Amino acid sequence: MSFLDISGVSKSFGGNTVVRGFDLAVRRGEFISFLGPSGCGKTTMLRMVAGFEQPSAGRIVIDGEDVTHRPPNARRIGMVFQAYALFPNMSVGDNVAFGLKVAGRPAAERAKRVDEMLGLIKLAHLKDRYPYQLSGGQQQRVALARALAPSPRVLLLDEPLSALDAKIRVSLRTEIRALQRELGITTIFVTHDQEEALSISDRIVVMSEGRIEQCGTPHEIYNRPRTRFVAGFVGTLSLVEAEAEGAGSTVTVAGQPVTLAEPVAGSGRRPVTLAFRPEALKLDAGEGRINAIRGTVEAAEFLGSVVRLRVATPGGTLLADVFNSPAAPPPAPGETVVLHFA
Ligand code: ADP
Ligand code: MG
Repeated sequence: MSFLDISGVSKSFGGNTVVRGFDLAVRRGEFISFLGPSGCGKTTMLRMVAGFEQPSAGRIVIDGEDVTHRPPNARRIGMVFQAYALFPNMSVGDNVAFGLKVAGRPAAERAKRVDEMLGLIKLAHLKDRYPYQLSGGQQQRVALARALAPSPRVLLLDEPLSALDAKIRVSLRTEIRALQRELGITTIFVTHDQEEALSISDRIVVMSEGRIEQCGTPHEIYNRPRTRFVAGFVGTLSLVEAEAEGAGSTVTVAGQPVTLAEPVAGSGRRPVTLAFRPEALKLDAGEGRINAIRGTVEAAEFLGSVVRLRVATPGGTLLADVFNSPAAPPPAPGETVVLHFA
């Protein structure tokens, strides 16, 4: 049984459709990311869950209750935005208490809950400060506490880390995930950063032009991308154009036969694309093995634990990460190499 059900949701502004036929069933306590390039409809979809936008079509159900036409304040949703949306004229404590005050909770209960929330985000000592006296990371933690204080059923986070420095971004995402697990709160996290989505999510919804391209665990999305868009948007990838013939497992890359471990789908003579993660390609000492492509090293970029080779092959340039070896330098530009893949 899913906790949050989005079915057939579309949204148009004027004649412009920005979300199309969006279907998603989120389990209770699940951490979902919406991942996609700027303008693909992530925020619009999130705002429809929150109730700030009305869907043009479709239904949104939370915990069995159809909330499609209910106002935001009747949905019990907590939301955190990219820019620090704290009330500048209120102390940290008053910011966190805000939702409870609006809900008419008594003062004693508010005070207790504020202390509890500030304890959770480890900012109890800053209760009487004002937002301008806090760092960006601290402000986002307060925004998180403010969103969580009224015990929402669903937490919605719209690029909450993208205005922060790289180091804080990484530590705060770990903190958000730990807090989310601890509270068991169903969460949707919007990001355009694939590394962020891969690191934090139970499942990722990859979006392009208002549509879901693929929904799956980080492991599935990375290893089994279903479309060229997903393959290209998530992780580093190099593509080689090739040609397959018949039902066999040999493809031809510009005249060079490459034998694959699995047969290629389809029949007849047809173009195929081979897609490689850089870590999937190894330098091959032997010759004539299956799954091998010959090429010329164009560049070797030393990254520390690995060396990233740019290898020109007749079908396109391949990126291959080979492990650094203290005993031997990596192949130099101009060298011919054979790349082998599992
Ligand atoms: P994302 O969050 O993925 O960057 P958005 O959901 O903000 O994308 O926007 C998706 C598309 O919808 C964009 O082309 C944007 O210009 C358009 N859009 C968003 N809100 C409105 C609005 N209120 N009126 C008209 N167009 C909008
Ligand atoms: Mg957005």
